[in-house]
Amino acid sequence: MYDVVIMGSGPAGLCAAIYAKRAGLKAVTLEKSPMSGGQVLNTYEVDNYPGLPGINGFDMGMKFREHADKLGCEFLNDSVLSVTPIQKDTELVRAASSNTVDGAGEGAGSNAGFVIETEGGVLHTKTVVAAMGASHAKLGIPGEEELSGMGVSYCATCDGAFFRGRTTAVIGGGDVAVEDAIFLARGCEKVYLIHRRDELRAAKILQEELLSLPNVEVIWDTVVERINGEDQVESISVKNKKTGEEAQIAVDGVFVAVGILPQSEIMADVTACDEKGYLIAGEDCACTTPGIFAAGDIRTKKLRQIITAAADGANAITSVQEYLIEAKNK
Ligand SMILES: Cc1cc2nc3c(=O)[nH]c(=O)nc-3n(C[C@H](O)[C@H](O)[C@H](O)COP(=O)(O)OP(=O)(O)OC[C@H]3O[C@@H](n4cnc5c(N)ncnc54)[C@H](O)[C@@H]3O)c2cc1C
Repeated sequence: MYDVVIMGSGPAGLCAAIYAKRAGLKAVTLEKSPMSGGQVLNTYEVDNYPGLPGINGFDMGMKFREHADKLGCEFLNDSVLSVTPIQKDTELVRAASSNTVDGAGEGAGSNAGFVIETEGGVLHTKTVVAAMGASHAKLGIPGEEELSGMGVSYCATCDGAFFRGRTTAVIGGGDVAVEDAIFLARGCEKVYLIHRRDELRAAKILQEELLSLPNVEVIWDTVVERINGEDQVESISVKNKKTGEEAQIAVDGVFVAVGILPQSEIMADVTACDEKGYLIAGEDCACTTPGIFAAGDIRTKKLRQIITAAADGANAITSVQEYLIEAKNK
């Protein structure tokens, strides 16, 4: 019986692993990919994490994992398939309780721990930290993958500063796309917002701000068919869906903002998600089901970044400790 099973080893999961180890918890971190680091691994340059200016994302992921390894954190390279709360007074509870270290196995809430089914087997734990992150929806067009990190980005907050004084295109029409365009317009000479419809889905107040900016041009009813460039983005090929007219627009950067997909499917029946699939949890990372905590990009929050994911890892373990103490005192 583990005190905590951490699912995912991006910045949130790795930070949770470090805090759990230092707190003396019996913890294991499960990671489905061959390497820890999560989305950070595919980031060309990270320039907004204190103390590590301009670090390559892969190196950063390795540094985080090395830190956890140095402390002796336990990892399993395994994919989580399901999480099932154990109800009190079931056979599983009686079996699990006999292994309980502190007598905290009965949980503070209505459940008595969790069964974690993985590709490799089954684990029992008193608490769960869900840190499976999120992935950015892709356009799936030629040039997108080839030029990713070379002018193609999925995060204006992360990479916008690299395009100061230059021309960029944001693709999308929702809140994130419009917020990204407004953010980029503060530093870029020119920003195109390319949207496939004739109206934006973003909040009215954001639309008004966007349309008031002199260096933003919205290109309506238009899809991007190709991103062009040798080893750096040079232009995009676009097509008007209504007229069929094709054009090429010179840009230095392309920001894809067509959606973020939280990796929360396996949690959907276990704890509450919002309408976009994010696990509902506040700053204490406590989910609606007692004993489940959400950390990093998978959680409902305003800013999804490495530093906020790492902070969540720390907060989640603090909440786990409080939960276990409460359970022990019951
Ligand atoms: C291209 C790009 C550039 C970025 N640049 C920056 C930047 O410059 N600065 C910044 O602060 N942020 C940046 N970000 C955002 C930052 O990477 C994320 O906010 C951060 O990685 C979130 O961390 P996380 O631990 O919550 O999730 P993730 O990093 O997504 O990690 C989740 C981990 O969980 C694992 N996992 C998922 N499902 C399972 C499962 N069922 N079983 C086991 N393991 C599972 C995944 O394999 C992954 O390793 C960037 C993101 C992208 C995509």
